[in-house]
Formats: sequence, structure tokens, C-alpha cells
Amino acid sequence: VTHLAAARYIGRFAPSPTGPLHLGSLVTAVASFLHARLHHGQWLIRVEDIDHTRSLSKVAEQHIRDLSLLGMHSDAAVVRQSQRQTYYRQALSQLERLGVLYGCQCSRQERANQEGRGGCCLCFGKNLSLANHALRIHLGAPAVQEQLTACQTFYDEKMGRFTQDLSTQVGDFVLRRADGAISYQLAVVVDDAQQQITHVVRGADLLDNTPRQILLQRLLQLPTPSYAHIALVLAADGKKLSKQNGASALQVNTPQQRLTCLLEAAAHLHLNLPQNGSINTLDQFWHAATLAAALTTQ
Ligand SMILES: [Zn+2]
Repeated sequence: VTHLAAARYIGRFAPSPTGPLHLGSLVTAVASFLHARLHHGQWLIRVEDIDHTRSLSKVAEQHIRDLSLLGMHSDAAVVRQSQRQTYYRQALSQLERLGVLYGCQCSRQERANQEGRGGCCLCFGKNLSLANHALRIHLGAPAVQEQLTACQTFYDEKMGRFTQDLSTQVGDFVLRRADGAISYQLAVVVDDAQQQITHVVRGADLLDNTPRQILLQRLLQLPTPSYAHIALVLAADGKKLSKQNGASALQVNTPQQRLTCLLEAAAHLHLNLPQNGSINTLDQFWHAATLAAALTTQ
């Protein structure tokens, strides 16, 4: 771990193993990989399988294999959220000691109705036990109020200044479900800190999750990385490209297929690659893509 501690830049790509790698996830992977290369940094893969069962570990293996075939290798052992429950529980205890959590027994339907409405849920003030209920963070708690100004506005490297009023636009959010499952918001904060991530490059669908994550970082006294959210690849229906709206699995079995995938991802990132036929190998691609990325960020 000592060599990681010395690095000035540690980035990561964190796929969810919900289906095979498709163009949308590849674009994010390439963006974060190039960003790390430009900064002479390290690049890590983390499998975000917190919501998923072990049966999906084959999918995660496939992601790692596909990325590696495309020339993207993790600079440290791949971390899986499903194996890190102890750390998430420690973070919850830390938040409990700050007096910012309350138990919640809202049904799935009630939770869905409250989504994005702001405020607290009906369970606030009922003093439900923290042990066997879902847990929410109370944005009105004094320890949270102290941090709100510092986390509701942040500067994103790609999207610019972003502001969100957590109390009215998000409300008290769930950190642990009643069945014990840890929320993505908490897991990602704990993992980014433990992997000493300095730069997060990820899809723009997570832009509005960032103030929540900065809040948790501040409450847990963890550093806030720098953020760059990149435009998503959209499907024909205008939504984020996903398995549900027809994203097909990347074909990476032959060298030509690999090059085709990478060139398509580079086009989505508006990288100005030479069109003179000089890119015929993975090495040539990564060399040209790194140069092009350096020019676009100037
Ligand atoms: Zn509730």
C-alpha cells in the first residue's frame, strides 16, 4: 500500500456487474483511464457489487477480463464492495456517534414516493431502534447543518460549478436498508477514501449524488477527491445507454474488435485521433488517445 500512498494521483473505474460491459461503461472507463495516464497516476478497478448477489461475480470477472484485453489493467488488486461490509458498518457507527441517524420503517413504496421530495420521513422523531430498521441520515441534525454549506456546491472539472439544496431536493437519505444492505452513497465514500482516490472520473448520472457523498466525507473526516463527470452515451430513447434499452455487449475477442470498440469510445469522448490509418494496435491507440486527451484538456 505504501507505493499508493506516495502517488499524487489515484483514479478508479467502478463498474456494477449488472450486465456485460457495453459502450456506455467503456466510454467512462476510457475517460478515467486516460485522465490517470495524463496525470501519470495510478488507475484502480473496483467492483460495485454492493446491491448484487454472488451469482454475478462471473459478470465482474468478465468486466475485468474485457478491460484487460482492451489494455486497461488495475494498478492494484481489484476491490469488491461485497467483501467490505466491516468497513461500512464502522462508518455507520461513526455516524451514529455523531447523532445524525434515525431508524426508518417506511415501506419500499413509501420510500419511492419520498424520493427527491426533500425533508424527513414520517419515522423521524419516533425513536425507532437503530439496530433493526433502515437508517436515514437527518439533514437537520446540528452536525450535518455545520457541513451543508461546504458540500452543497462543488466545482466539477467537466461540468463546472454544481449546486444542490440537499434539504429540499434530496431530503434525509437512506444509508442502510432494513435488510442490512448498505447504500451506494456510503459504500462509495468509504471505498474512495480507503483506496486513497484523488480523482473521480465517472458518468454524469452521478453528478447529483456528489453533494451527498461530500457530506458523508466531511462527517466521517475523509478527504474529498476532485470530480469530473463526463457526458453519458445516450440510447435512441434519450436515456442513459443500458442493457434495458438495447446496449449490446462489447465484442472484444479479436484485435480488430478491440480497436473498433476503443475507437468508438474515443469518438464519444470527442478525442481528435489521427485519421491516416496509423492506429492499428492497442499501443498505438493508447499513445494517440493520450496525446489527444492532453490537447483537449488544455
Ligand atoms: Zn421512514
